Amino acid sequence: MARSYVHEARRRVGPKRARIRPVIERLALEHPDAVIALRFLDDIELLVSVMLSAQTTDVTVNRVTESLFRKYRRPEDYLAVPLEELERDIRPTGTFRQKARNLQGAMRMLVEEHDGEVPTRLEELVRLPGVGRKTANVVAAERGATQGIVVDTHVRRLSQRLGFSRQEDPVKIERDLRRLVPRADWARFPHLLIWHGRRVCIARAPRCADCVLNDLCPSSRV
Ligand code: SF4
Repeated sequence: MARSYVHEARRRVGPKRARIRPVIERLALEHPDAVIALRFLDDIELLVSVMLSAQTTDVTVNRVTESLFRKYRRPEDYLAVPLEELERDIRPTGTFRQKARNLQGAMRMLVEEHDGEVPTRLEELVRLPGVGRKTANVVAAERGATQGIVVDTHVRRLSQRLGFSRQEDPVKIERDLRRLVPRADWARFPHLLIWHGRRVCIARAPRCADCVLNDLCPSSRV
């Protein structure tokens, strides 16, 4: 996109500080069902689901965990089976060898250092094997202990298209969003962008003509 066109688009929609609230309000109306798509009943299941969701779809994770969570109920259950058995049980989620190793490592740390409970602080969550900042943010937010903003592929793409961040690195994008998004909206904001990204602002072909944000978006093709 030519530089002058980008400049003109930014001028047309106004500063991001003035746009953030209407963007959130409109997306909340558009996607009232925007919540996490993973199915879980407790904190251990939440942690396992999010760890398994790397590089695969939520639908696949839910299909696998339906039977997985009947067999593995507590952290000790993940440690009581040979690694190969756990690998077999999570195989459809992909990169299953690494995921199985990380799951056993994380469960061991929960048992040894956290009395079998999932911690809520980001610093403690990211110490668990296989748990990066994104996973930690999702787990903390779902437990009502939001400390950051989840940045996945949809949040990254939409933040850039909406002119909320020019960064590529998820950590830097999160930093930009933390400065911009009201604290009270940190938990729901990524869900809104994720669902909008799936339904309207699709990676290859954004449906700008049908988008409720097209007068607030510098990337609108309308
Ligand atoms: S106007 Fe287009 S590019 Fe902007 S958020 Fe909507 S669909 Fe995405």
